[in-house]
This record gives sequence, C-alpha cells and structure tokens, in this order.
Amino acid sequence: MGAGVAGALLTLRLAEAGVPVDLFTGTQPDDADATSASGGLVRGYEPDPAAAALAAAGIAELRSDPRMRSWADFAEIGSVYVTPVSQPPVAAAVDQVLTRLPGSLRLAEPAELPLRGVPEGAVVVRERLAGFIRPGRLRANVLAALPGLGATVHTRRITAVSGDAVRAGAEGFDGYDAVVVAAGAWTRELVPGTESTTRQIQYGLYPVRVAGLPSFVDETSGLYGRPYDGGRMLFGLSSDRWGLPPEQIRPDEELSARVTACLGERLGLDVQPEQVVASFDCYTEPAGLRLRRVGNVLTFTGGSGGAAKTVLAASRVAARELVPVLEGAR
Ligand SMILES: Cc1cc2nc3c(=O)[nH]c(=O)nc-3n(C[C@H](O)[C@H](O)[C@H](O)COP(=O)(O)OP(=O)(O)OC[C@H]3O[C@@H](n4cnc5c(N)ncnc54)[C@H](O)[C@@H]3O)c2cc1C
Repeated sequence: MGAGVAGALLTLRLAEAGVPVDLFTGTQPDDADATSASGGLVRGYEPDPAAAALAAAGIAELRSDPRMRSWADFAEIGSVYVTPVSQPPVAAAVDQVLTRLPGSLRLAEPAELPLRGVPEGAVVVRERLAGFIRPGRLRANVLAALPGLGATVHTRRITAVSGDAVRAGAEGFDGYDAVVVAAGAWTRELVPGTESTTRQIQYGLYPVRVAGLPSFVDETSGLYGRPYDGGRMLFGLSSDRWGLPPEQIRPDEELSARVTACLGERLGLDVQPEQVVASFDCYTEPAGLRLRRVGNVLTFTGGSGGAAKTVLAASRVAARELVPVLEGAR
C-alpha cells in the first residue's frame, strides 16, 4: 500500500515478474506526498557507495529504456556535486558510478563553477549523464500502466494493516501472501515499531537562470538546485525540522531567508522566491529505500530525501527479495 514512487515502482516490478498485486493508494494523485513535491535531481554520485550504486543503476535504466525515460521525463542536463575536504574519500563512490555509467563522471576544480567561496581543497564531482526527472509524472505513468500488467489499483485510504490483510474503515481485504507498507512519512502511523522519522524538505522557485549551473549540490554551503520550468531555478537548503507529522508541515520563513542569503553569498544573486514548496520525507538510519520487516508486515520506505534517484534500482532489489518470500508463503 502507498502509491508514491516507492509503492508504484515496487508494484510495477512485481507485476512485470508475474506476481498478482493489489495496490492501495490514498488519493490519486496525492499532491501532499514527497513524490509530488520532489525536486527530482538525479545523479549517480552519492557519498555512500551503496547509494551511488543504486543511483547510477537508475540513470543507466533511464538511458537504456525509452519507456522509463519518457515516463520520468528525464532531462539529461548534467550535475555537479561539491564535496568538502572533511568528507571521506570519494573514490569508492566514483567507482560505483563509472562501473555503471562509463565516462560519465570526472573530478573538476571549483573554479569551473559559478559558485563563490568554495573552500580550498573541496572536490567537485561532475557528471554528464545526470540531471532531473519528474517523480510525480513517473508515478502517474506507472499507475496508468499497472492494470495492463495485471495489477489492481484500489483508491482506498488504508486504516489498518496486518501480515495478510488491510482494512479501509469497515471494508476489509484479506488473503494476501505479504503486505508491504510503502506509505512514506505516514508509514510510522500505520506500522507501530517502524524506526523512522520525518524531515521537512523545502525549496523555492526563483525567477533567475544561472549559466553554467546544471543540477547541483554544494555540500560546502548546503545549497542545492536545478533549472526549473518557466526560466526559473529551484534552490534549497537542508531543513532542521525533524519529526513533525506530515499534516503539520508549513513553509519555514527563516529557512527561506537563509536560502536568499546563501544565494547572495555563493552566486551573487539578489532574488526572492516566487513560490516556496514545503513537504517532507520519511528518514531512516541507515538512510535508504529498502524492504524492512516490522512485526508481520514489510515496509518499503526510507527515501531519506533521495529516493527519486534510487527508486528505480531499489524497487528491483526489493522485488527480487520479495518473490521468494511470496513463493514460500504459497
Ligand atoms: C521537497 C522534496 C524535494 C525532493 N527532492 C529530491 C531530489 O531532488 N532528488 C531525489 O532523489 N529525491 C528527492 N526527494 C525525495 C524523494 O522525492 C522521496 O524520497 C520519494 O518521493 C519518497 O517516495 P515514497 O513513495 O517513499 O513516499 P511518498 O511520495 O510520500 O508516498 C507515500 C504514499 O503513501 C500514501 N499513503 C500514506 N498513507 C496511506 C494510507 N493510509 N492509505 C493509502 N495510501 C497511503 C500517500 O498518499 C503517498 O502517496 C525530495 C523530496 C521532497 C519532499
């Protein structure tokens, strides 16, 4: 249950493997979820080599599968990741990317970027085969394809789950070999004992374009962004609002002011956001979207602010893990 990118893609992988699946979604599309709000920056490089392996495999799939590329509306505009000297060496993660995307990545000098004030010794990871996708559109296209692949999509808000059944108020659906809760930040309400929390994620849309800046993350200032529709750019900084229930997330004006100040310092811009998008994601420790057993159900969540880039590969891994579980249950 749950039809963000996690639930939708896992259902797709299972349906394509011939597994009969029922998918329960809240509202369709759910414009309050992480998938709808997502900035969709995708690149292979992540400091954690395991995350880099998944993210690079996702880009390889976007590049080799025209259907997936068009569903996700992949814009291959490149990416830069500026990593401070204090972080662990980048070599292991770089290897993971180059194995899957040969020739895509090179280490560069900060002077190549229009960013000011990057500390001495920072490493710039430049990727050619990267950019951004539209996770909401990817989800909508997957949901539209599922009935043709034999999966059943039910628009029902689930109120209770167990190992072989789900309930939507008075209505019950049972007899399942496994129940997987992919409800993002709502998972912890439905599955007591889920070790996860929420974190606000917020960005602004600014009426500017910065030449020479593709999708980017600057870990030395925390600033990230990408070109956006309508000649605008999306910019954001990490939020320190942890643990709020999804319905209590509101735009954080102090955070917006910090982004504006950072844009002045790092890019010499004097600009205010036209629009602020405040949403949330489900965070786990260790971070990452994967299947976890909690009591008698499974969860598939933990995007931790990054599942737009890992979901294609993570959903394949989860489906591979699930098929034997389902076969064992029969
Ligand atoms: C503002 C923002 C920007 C981001 N930018 C990036 C980025 O640039 N790059 C990147 O890689 N990642 C990014 N992310 C992270 C990424 O978008 C998320 O990790 C990913 O979308 C999480 O997907 P999900 O399916 O786990 O959760 P969600 O998208 O939150 O989906 C959970 C779904 O479960 C449903 N649900 C919940 N409760 C119930 C219920 N009781 N019954 C039925 N359905 C239910 C909800 O309606 C929802 O549709 C961003 C996230 C946010 C919020």
